[in-house]
Amino acid sequence: MRVVIVGGVAGGMSAATRLRRLNEEAEIVVIEKSGFVSYANCGLPYYVGGVIEEEGNLLLQTPESLHARFRLDVRVSSEVISVDAMSKTLVVRSGSGEYELTYDKLILSPGAAPIVPPIPGVERAMTLRTVEDVDRIVKKVAAQPRTAAVIGGGFIGVEIAENLVHRGIKTSIIEATAQVLAPLDPEMAAPVHLELRKHGIDLHLSSAATNIGSADVTLADGTRVEADIVILAIGVRPETTLAKNAGIDIGPRGGINVDQFNRTSNEDIYAIGDAAEKTDALDGSATLVPLANIANRHGRVVADHICGREIRDVKTIGTAIVKVFDLTVATTGWNEKRLTAAGVACTSIHTHPNSHAGYYPDAKPMTLKLIFDPKSGEIFGAQGVGIDGVDKRIDVIATAIRGDITAPELADLELAYAPPFGSAKDPVNMLGFIAENVMSGLLTTVQWNDVANLEAAGYTLLDVRSASEFAAGAIPHAVNIPVDELRSRSHELGGKKLAVYCQVGQRGHTATLLLQELGFAVVNLDGGYQLWNSVQQEGK
Ligand code: FAD
Repeated sequence: MRVVIVGGVAGGMSAATRLRRLNEEAEIVVIEKSGFVSYANCGLPYYVGGVIEEEGNLLLQTPESLHARFRLDVRVSSEVISVDAMSKTLVVRSGSGEYELTYDKLILSPGAAPIVPPIPGVERAMTLRTVEDVDRIVKKVAAQPRTAAVIGGGFIGVEIAENLVHRGIKTSIIEATAQVLAPLDPEMAAPVHLELRKHGIDLHLSSAATNIGSADVTLADGTRVEADIVILAIGVRPETTLAKNAGIDIGPRGGINVDQFNRTSNEDIYAIGDAAEKTDALDGSATLVPLANIANRHGRVVADHICGREIRDVKTIGTAIVKVFDLTVATTGWNEKRLTAAGVACTSIHTHPNSHAGYYPDAKPMTLKLIFDPKSGEIFGAQGVGIDGVDKRIDVIATAIRGDITAPELADLELAYAPPFGSAKDPVNMLGFIAENVMSGLLTTVQWNDVANLEAAGYTLLDVRSASEFAAGAIPHAVNIPVDELRSRSHELGGKKLAVYCQVGQRGHTATLLLQELGFAVVNLDGGYQLWNSVQQEGK
């Protein structure tokens, strides 16, 4: 049996090595267009910044090492230019020549190509996908440009921008929408914007680039952003040219359509990784998730299927993480924006716990958001932003989603605890407590974006923080009665409807339950002053 694999990086190489482990006899040929195989494309931005100092560290394998261990026939600088699915033959271009190669099974893992919009001057912009791309960028950076513009504030855009700053380059990010990192909801993106600006990034939101000049980028409103170099990172589209030409079905999202074993509409051709569509775990729809975990996972699935092994059908929840200077930003599942747009009823809760016990040195605060079904408690998604411990919490919640654990059941998870690592009531447990309180109707919460309408709805804003916290900044028109004085001073509140808040939501919770016991109608501001204020800071 000859298996030919197009693309020798994440998905392709996972498929190739798993195949070999399962079948010593198969002939496995990997055709890779670039000059490198099995390279760490996720590490490329950090090589630009000098965080990864040696390019060799990004090159995980060579054709020789893959032959030595796995007897793979890896052909780099070779491009598959056509596939004839009828005769099971493909044409490979290598150097100035072309040759034909037949296959019994074909695995397409050609990845995704950066989207290049038709902006005048776009040919001056560089994209980042391969080792050759990074070499081009590193060469320009070595010439010590003074300024850089990154068009696109997605994961790769913010990573490359951070690394350009590490190189001492004055860097701008130009983003067409109102926020960076689209998987985040706006209030979770707000601290990311602050972090980018704190580190000197000139952030242009809701700004489309309309022209790339020789030393600047012009925005739709006429602003000129200085840019000795320009990096384009506005997203990727699945590489489907080969598949289309071979008559293989393309799915509704523009990726290669596959079944649960990653087989295409031709049963001898599989497609994996960024080029292929996936199935969304929440609604079963076709989706695109251009991330390494799922590319590797599906490489393994395909190898198992070719070798006749039983495999599980696992849908995607799109868990992702990115470093933004000192912050960790992580997401899993659907965000509130998407749920609302899809008409799915959902409840959101926010909390600002410490990464570990507050009394142990170096505890760092984080913001966590959990989104779930208000009736069943099914977890739809979660987002986290903070300096430390965010990755762990989002990974636990991603595991909970995979295991059908509901939001209130997060309270029951027994998570490893000692003061340097967490809290006896871990942040994930706290989300479970809050979810249970909200779902059971013990208290009602309102969100940061409800605040503007609370007074019109007849609520008095009650700040239950200390007098000094209140003096340092408060929501306009709020009255201040610290939580510990509420029992003695509640008569000052008359019979008013109250919207209570504290710094992060926790004292507000205590105050809400106390005031309810005293007969008041009360709602608590979820996420507290801190969440509301971080969005207000944005506009300043
Ligand atoms: P790739 O790994 O891109 O491999 C496709 C290969 O196919 C390419 O080398 C290409 O040259 C080759 N090819 C294409 N067409 C042909 C052809 N016709 N003939 C021969 N060869 C061909 N994901 C994460 O989860 N976390 C991260 O932190 C992260 N960071 C990233 C940073 C950068 C800069 C980039 C570019 C991507 C990042 N990703 C990250 C995404 C991740 O790398 C991809 O999801 C993953 O590599 C996809 O695997 P793949 O096999 O589908 O495609």
